[in-house]
Amino acid sequence: MADNNGVPRRKPVPHSAQELPENWAQELTAQFRRTLSTKRMNELSSRSPSQRRPSSRRVPTDIVVERRRRDIASPPPLPPSRQAPPPPPPPAAVPETPAEPSNTSTAESSDIAADSPPAYASLKNIPAVPTAPTDQFSRRFRNYLINLSSTPVTWENPGLLDEALRVVPLQRIYDEAQEEADLLTAEAASLGDNILPAWGYQDCVIRALMKWFRRDFFEWVNNPKCSACRSPTIARGRAAPLPDEAARGANRVELYQCAHPQCQSYERFARYNDAFVLLQTRQGRVGEWATCFGMLCRALGSRIRWVWNQEDHVWTEVYSVHRKRWVHVDSCEEAWDAPRLYTEGWGKKLSYCIAFSADGCCDVTRRYVRNPATHSVPRNKVTEGELLHIIREINALRRKDMDKKQKFQLNAEDMREDAELRKYIIEALAFNVSRILPGGDGEKASMRGLDTATMAAAAARRERRGGASGDADAAKAAEHARGAAGDAERVRRAGNTTVGEQRPPGSNGQSPPRREHHRRA
Ligand SMILES: [Zn+2]
Repeated sequence: MADNNGVPRRKPVPHSAQELPENWAQELTAQFRRTLSTKRMNELSSRSPSQRRPSSRRVPTDIVVERRRRDIASPPPLPPSRQAPPPPPPPAAVPETPAEPSNTSTAESSDIAADSPPAYASLKNIPAVPTAPTDQFSRRFRNYLINLSSTPVTWENPGLLDEALRVVPLQRIYDEAQEEADLLTAEAASLGDNILPAWGYQDCVIRALMKWFRRDFFEWVNNPKCSACRSPTIARGRAAPLPDEAARGANRVELYQCAHPQCQSYERFARYNDAFVLLQTRQGRVGEWATCFGMLCRALGSRIRWVWNQEDHVWTEVYSVHRKRWVHVDSCEEAWDAPRLYTEGWGKKLSYCIAFSADGCCDVTRRYVRNPATHSVPRNKVTEGELLHIIREINALRRKDMDKKQKFQLNAEDMREDAELRKYIIEALAFNVSRILPGGDGEKASMRGLDTATMAAAAARRERRGGASGDADAAKAAEHARGAAGDAERVRRAGNTTVGEQRPPGSNGQSPPRREHHRRA
């Protein structure tokens, strides 16, 4: 259970109640906050200034650290200030407004479609050669992606992240996380020696955060209720932002009218995309949810990605240090590591899923579209070579001020992820082949099983070759088998749809009701 990611662990609980000092819990919370903050500070201050979000409220690192030190002697932090947050940065990406380039003119589209390979081929393992976007159409898409890529960068602000933590019930989240982590450890121990828990402590922290965020903090809004009489409202189009709405970064405001005949008052619903403003408004649709939740994950010390999908959805991914991979997290659905939710769960077809972080960008479509034959739609915005070029351009932009070591680590991570994503396609092909072979029973061939078998076979091959990495691979395969077993066990016990990815959520009656946000962003 030793997560070596520097996340604070809970102090051992004193044996008897008498030993507990009165302010024990408060002190502990303050300690968590400080440790987290220091960790984040260290991370962020090692970045170059150009990577940080410009803000009038940002104070030099040494001053922040000094303040931390003084905090040690000061009482627990005050409740979140009711003050309006500072004016947001220059308009960042608009999460779910498909204000994407108006490039759907049929003539242009068909030109591009003729050039680009069909959807299935585009998701195969054909290495694309990066080519710079040349025509106006693909350059527009490039600019659109570059604009989107700045979203998670705006969260990299130590002062504001500290401020954000004040609204989070840290004590409760850490307690819940510790409880789950302990359970997973016990479960792993019961499965045999050398079996690691399915998830690490920091993963459990994010899971607990997500639960609190969805159930107690953020509100889903389709039509806002009338603030005068709480009656339902009817959409009446758009309105121009008021000065205070504009100052907080609302670039569009939806107008609603109360349906009650005696009331009929108007209700405004400003669409904010500044995560720190959303901490105050605490409401919205999928874009607001992903933005605010993503920022809070960052505040709690995780590496975070904001995933944009061309079919009008956004979600997040969190890096699991324990599993050494990016994990799908959708706060609207309380879905954890369930990347097949959208395709196999909801029956959606997806073209592009692009993940953006403060460190770069990755085309993660293959994680979400496991079977391109059934769940992909043509990718015709740019050619695959152009997309690769754009992604490399964004990576270079985000990494330009990093030192060699950091860049090397990120490149290695990119390669690992690419191998992971390629593996999904191989699994899909194997799965499809197993279904058409005489006597083959594709339904029973669990993807997890294939996955584990593939890894174990690879490990055995390496061992036969006598490579030094044999042990590591064998351990990895064992760990993976353990993960699958652990997940299956937990699913069996808890009937929890968010644990494993082997079963599409929504396939039983226990999954949370699906929100209608796919229709209305
Ligand atoms: Zn009313």
